[in-house]
Amino acid sequence: MLDYHIHPDFSPDAQGSIEQFCRRAVAIGMQEICFTTHYEPDPVRAGIERVIVQGNPVAVDSDWPERYLEEIERCRRRFPELTIVSGVEVGYELGLEGKIANFLSRYRFDFVLGAVHCLDHVAITSRKELDDFQSHLKPLGAGYLARRYFEYVRAAAGSRLFDCLAHLDIWRKYISSGIGAEFEPAIQPWITPMLETIVRSGVGLEINTSALRRGDREPYPAAAIVLQAVKLGVRVFTIGSDAHRPQELGEGIDCAYQLLKRFGMKPARFRDRRPICG
Ligand SMILES: [Zn+2]
Ligand SMILES: [Zn+2]
Repeated sequence: MLDYHIHPDFSPDAQGSIEQFCRRAVAIGMQEICFTTHYEPDPVRAGIERVIVQGNPVAVDSDWPERYLEEIERCRRRFPELTIVSGVEVGYELGLEGKIANFLSRYRFDFVLGAVHCLDHVAITSRKELDDFQSHLKPLGAGYLARRYFEYVRAAAGSRLFDCLAHLDIWRKYISSGIGAEFEPAIQPWITPMLETIVRSGVGLEINTSALRRGDREPYPAAAIVLQAVKLGVRVFTIGSDAHRPQELGEGIDCAYQLLKRFGMKPARFRDRRPICG
């Protein structure tokens, strides 16, 4: 079993060290896990975003990835029965391609997820920031936010900085509920153009099972979007739980396997930024 989306306690919103996640992975019989700690490069949000190193908050732009990669390397020696892949989840922001490229060239990751976590510097995936969402984004209206989300995904895919895009229909998490019933119809016309851009750029998609933990019946993205992605030509899919604590590791991964299997696909693994499919 694989899990390609894991947040150890380098992320302020996560609990559990890299070693604790590895111990849990071995205990539940996983073969391969990929850590994808957050990198949120937006300077406008520099006062909000932090990375935690040995219990201390440090700036996002400090040299924390060295500690992170060292710790992964140490655990590779400590847990030889487990394949441990080094990854990162980059919160994409428009216009920061140069900064992100520079970061990715400085540190050697096996796998890079690109994610849209914010629109116009306001979080769309954080419960803590729901008040900001309500006061800054909601008044802009469903039509604007749907189009804006598409623009972010199109730019993230087109940047060719990422191996896979994370949780493509994450709007289901807070935007749909925050805006109300009008958001879902507003985003529908953008789904096919989003997937066409993704196919053209060659980036893969992830099946993220954190939605199942929230009581949803479908992962991010939902099966209908995965099916359309396969039909349009997306060939690389990773699967991940988005675990923020060790007990969440591998949750829902079976469902993600089954979903891909239904469409004739298998989850990809990554080494040195290259996919190994099947
Ligand atoms: Zn994410
Ligand atoms: Zn994540």
